[in-house]
Amino acid sequence: MGDVKPARFAVAQAKRVVIKVGTRVIADDSGRVQPSQLIDVAAVVAALRARGREVLIVSSGAVGLGTATLGFDDVPIDLEERQACAAVGQTRLMGLWEEGLSHHGHTCGQVLLTQGDFDDRVRYLNLRGTLMTLLRHGVIPVINENDAVSTEELAFVENEAQAIFGDNDRLSALVATKLGADLLVLLTDVQGVFDRDPRAHPEARLLSRIEVPGAGMELAGARGSEMGRGGMKSKVEAAHVVARSGCQAVIASGFEPGALASVLTGEETGTWFPARGELAAKRRWIAFAARSRGRLELDAGAVEALEKRGASLLAAGVRRVEGDFGPGDVVDLLRPDGRRVGRGMVYCDAESARDWCSGSPPEGIRNHHALVHRDHMVLEG
Ligand code: GLU
Repeated sequence: MGDVKPARFAVAQAKRVVIKVGTRVIADDSGRVQPSQLIDVAAVVAALRARGREVLIVSSGAVGLGTATLGFDDVPIDLEERQACAAVGQTRLMGLWEEGLSHHGHTCGQVLLTQGDFDDRVRYLNLRGTLMTLLRHGVIPVINENDAVSTEELAFVENEAQAIFGDNDRLSALVATKLGADLLVLLTDVQGVFDRDPRAHPEARLLSRIEVPGAGMELAGARGSEMGRGGMKSKVEAAHVVARSGCQAVIASGFEPGALASVLTGEETGTWFPARGELAAKRRWIAFAARSRGRLELDAGAVEALEKRGASLLAAGVRRVEGDFGPGDVVDLLRPDGRRVGRGMVYCDAESARDWCSGSPPEGIRNHHALVHRDHMVLEG
């Protein structure tokens, strides 16, 4: 038998793999566990480990499982009720993973995260250290958002209980980019991204590969399932994010027996987003992980200097400073028409930046210093 390279060789070669398991893969719409699917995933994870691969699981399902346990018919609208469901469901969820993985002789460790763990660089590095240590011990981290305490989104989406919980597609992309993973697999209840809605168009075709940055978003629709949050759109977004930072991504079915195993051997299953150029770890954090604390509105000359000449951002090119940030925080850099040109880490706090941009640099700062240094900046595209 000759050595035939699989269609997706880079996927098959991945050494560190993040597998994101959606709520629907764990439980049905009324929150009843789907044991066979979880058992399938656990078996594939064990097989991967046996081939010397490192695996991290990002698992949804806490809210869904807790909803059923507490006797609700549907996920409650009320935030505190949902958080109670998450608290109850999370222990059940871990019980399922523990059982599924220990059956193959593997140990798992629960890691619950909030957005804040990614915003602060010290916490971010510490989290990275913890995850790497777990991997070094051969433990399979099972990660979820800390839904029982995570209310940060509330301020941004008043009255929209659905959006209070962050979405695990984004979380899995952060974990994959942060850990320098080689592959992110997003398991969901459809086979991948189709060229049109397969529910309305039986002739819809599954796209095997999406390569163009940003492509596929228009095909993804918006809705998530009843219990989970993401929907196809956030999966496509997450896949693009990781592909951009040098990690392969595949969206595939968590329902079809054998689909995950065939993704991991590089077969043409699901939709593949081939990895593109790599960003340095700090730049990845600026681009994807940190939350923006403010906005700098640039003039046209500054935008051109950034985009065409690879220059740093000088205070003289900033027309307006918005927000209340500290030195080292990440801010959005905006074109004169308000569109974002990139993100960067600022040199000083907001008040000093305002003074500086209006021509009176704070003490110790010279005008040729950069407000955002080139090395601390990531442009769009
Ligand atoms: N963290 C939520 C849960 O475990 C799910 C979030 C999502 O589906 O994206 O239920």
